[in-house]
Amino acid sequence: MNINDAIYKGKCVLEKNFIKNSQLDSEILMSKVFNKDRKFVILNSKNKLDKEKINFFNVLISQRSKGKPIAYILNKKDFWKYEFKVEKDVLIPRPDTEILVEQALKFTKNKINLRVLDIGTGSGCILLSILKEKKNFYGVGVDISKKCINLSKTNAFKLGIKNRLKLFNSSIDNFRYGKYDLIISNPPYINKLDFKYLNKDVVNFEPKSALYGGLDGTSEIRKVIKRSSELIKKNGKLILEIGFDQKKKVTKLLNHNGFYINKIFKDLAKNDRCIVSTKI
Ligand code: GLN
Repeated sequence: MNINDAIYKGKCVLEKNFIKNSQLDSEILMSKVFNKDRKFVILNSKNKLDKEKINFFNVLISQRSKGKPIAYILNKKDFWKYEFKVEKDVLIPRPDTEILVEQALKFTKNKINLRVLDIGTGSGCILLSILKEKKNFYGVGVDISKKCINLSKTNAFKLGIKNRLKLFNSSIDNFRYGKYDLIISNPPYINKLDFKYLNKDVVNFEPKSALYGGLDGTSEIRKVIKRSSELIKKNGKLILEIGFDQKKKVTKLLNHNGFYINKIFKDLAKNDRCIVSTKI
């Protein structure tokens, strides 16, 4: 069997299991078999596959058929301009979250030596992307999951920013370290009802603790805002990712905690997604 035949077979299996981008996924999984990029498998599609490679490919196809996200199969995900290592129990970075990086960079354009805190840092995607762009910023990441802290450490090392970064394995309630010019967070914000209707690939494979925000989705955001109001410097910026229907509630919470709303940004699907505020 050549590469092309195997990709076609893989695609059919994925399709039968209701995987949406079956052709693309099959090609990506084949490139994992060769540890090369997609271009390689497409350009070499007539090459024969040995038994070992066929077996490995079938294992990957079967994982994907059960809904395992491609990012967990490949153990990596592109975010902003960089590649992040990801693994089970850590949220896969989302394109919509890149808005937070974009706005953080915009709102700190001419600033130097800022101290940045990322609450619920996960893979470290937001904080590390900002630190990579801003060579003299100093970052602190906090996460309640030890696994996330270890992974963000690995990612920081890979991106060469280990010495401008401190990571803490702590809940935000008990976190008392430092004062910040900029705080960012993509907290768990999905409410009970929406959680039921989440895509199966997400519910079955990604950590609930990174997604679920209690009955109305704001139980974690509340904590983040309250603690941020104590950890932030006067005139510091707080940039949050929010659920599509949380603009009003979060605005109120921010105002109650002494923040002024600068702007609310929409994601690629035109949902309210990112709220930028300033501590008065
Ligand atoms: N900050 C990480 C991200 O945005 C993790 C967020 C989370 O686990 N809720 O991907």
